[in-house]
Formats: sequence, C-alpha cells, structure tokens
Amino acid sequence: MRYDDSPPAPESGPADAPDRHWFTRRSTLVVGVAALAPACLAGWVLTQALSGAGPDETRPHTVPLPASHSALSHGQRDAKPGSSPSSTPTSTPSGSPSTSAAAPAPARGPLSGRTVVIDPGHNTGNFQHTDEIDRKVDIGTNRKECDTTGTTTNSGYMEAEFTMDVSVRTRKILEAQGAKVVLTHETGVRPWGPCINERARIGNEAAADAVVSVHADGVSSGNRGYHIILPATVKSGAADTAKIVGPSRDLGEKIASNFARTTGSSPANYLGSGTGLVVRDDLGGLNLSTRPKVFIECGNMRDAKDAAQLTSPEWRQKAAQGIADGIVGFLGG
Ligand code: ZN
Repeated sequence: MRYDDSPPAPESGPADAPDRHWFTRRSTLVVGVAALAPACLAGWVLTQALSGAGPDETRPHTVPLPASHSALSHGQRDAKPGSSPSSTPTSTPSGSPSTSAAAPAPARGPLSGRTVVIDPGHNTGNFQHTDEIDRKVDIGTNRKECDTTGTTTNSGYMEAEFTMDVSVRTRKILEAQGAKVVLTHETGVRPWGPCINERARIGNEAAADAVVSVHADGVSSGNRGYHIILPATVKSGAADTAKIVGPSRDLGEKIASNFARTTGSSPANYLGSGTGLVVRDDLGGLNLSTRPKVFIECGNMRDAKDAAQLTSPEWRQKAAQGIADGIVGFLGG
C-alpha cells in the first residue's frame, strides 16, 4: 500500500507499494506502459470520489483514514510497545538481511540447497521516518520514494505488522523443508525501510530461487480478495525483467492457487478480472529484480470482512502456508 495521493506521473510516480487505489478500478488485467498514466489518473479520481477524500497531492504517506487521523499520528498511536517512538531504534539503518537467529543447521527436505527471499512489505517504523522514506531512489524506469508507510485496518492494525507476521510464518514453513530463507528486514532491527531498490538487491545478491514480497491492500470497503502482482517486461536503466517475466508468472500462479486453497479466499473482485493476477511495470521491487519475484496482496485491510481474516493469527498461518506451498510448487519440491 502506498499513501502519497498524487496520481502517477513519470517524475513522481507511485512508490513501490503495489496496493494503490488508482489501480484498483481498472478493468483490464495488464497495466500497459502506454496506458498507465491516464488509466491511473482516472482510477485515482474515481477512488477519491468514492472515498470522499479530496485530492491532496502535497501530502505524502497519508493513510486513508478519517480526516482527523494523520498518517504520522496514527502510526504513533497504534505502534506497539516495541515500535513506539521512544523505543524505536535510532541508529542509521544498516541491518543486513538475515536468516533465522542462531542459524541452526538447515533441515533436510525437498528445498535443501534452495534459497528463498521473503520481503515483508513496509516497516512499522516508516510512520516515524517519513523524511527518510520519501527520498527518491532509482528504479531504472524512473525514480520513486524509497519506501512507503503501508496501510492499516480501520482499527489500526498496521500492514507492516501483518506483512512481517506472515513472512516469519512463511520462513518457518520453508526452513522446515530445507530452504535457506532470507528476510529483507527483521522486526526491530532497523528503524525504517529498506528502500525498494535495496529490497530488490537483497534478492539478487542472495541469488534467490524465488522472491515474494508480502503486502495487504488498502482500498475501499467492498473490494475483497487476494491478488498476485507479476513483473511486466521492462528494460530501462538498471531495470531489465526479460529473464524473470516467465518464471515469475509461474511462481505467481502457483502461489495464487495454493493461497486460494489454504485460505479459502477468492481472487480479488476489483481487479485482475477474477484471475487474482495483475501485471505491473511501475514497481521498483519487481523492475530491479533479476530473480523470479512476485508481490502478493493478501486481502483488503479496509474491508471489514477481509480485515477480520487479516487480523486473525489462524488465518495468517493459512496465508503463510499457501505462500509457502506455492513456492514449493514452483521450485519443484
Ligand atoms: Zn503494501
């Protein structure tokens, strides 16, 4: 999820948070390069109209909450004790990606010798570090914000909490099958980020066999279900996805079917034409990846029915199982 309410444009395009309103009203499956800007603008206008929120292009990271809630105050209000401003680590972010603490000998299993990178979308500390995450980074096709805050449920459960929880659960499942699993960041290790280009680099440098970025969407109530975001073919600057488009689609399709099976959720009813699959060319985390990679939007945090699932530990375990099973299927485990 992203929160700058500016419509996408080449110079100020969306940050690398895939779950953005103005994509959600599109009826087409594939976001074409040529059609991207006008379509997004149209979707953005529609979303603003539906949500009752006026356009505010100058206010980055605004969570679509009632007007009285600013993103920053909301994040502070809802931060868990370990992530409150007073206890948020203040050191320069230098946390390196890591596998499980203590690094026990990997289990033997069908994924022995395979490396999987799981990317927990956003960071609970991003709300307190908006200056840092606003900094633009090069994603090859253009420049975008380093990172975004992510969304929340109406009751304040943060997307960043959700993504970390599901990622840790997924790691545990995959490690039990012998995989080496790297998370792009860990709870409490770094105060914000990583930036989207670093998230991609972690997967590349790990020579990951599969990379999954975990998210939840933040669109209008009534929009429900999951979707997988696949990389489009792009070639510009450091971005060249030609080699990963095919395997990434395979990975995404495997995750989609397994996620549906384990969670009982349906493909998103607001985009993807019911397939649960969407192709996008505007996400740095995909554009800069040289390894098979997808994003998953597990559900809509702003819908009460979806939120009831997303806030359930039992449901999150099912979500993790579906993601892990998809990865296993992709890797032939
Ligand atoms: Zn997100």
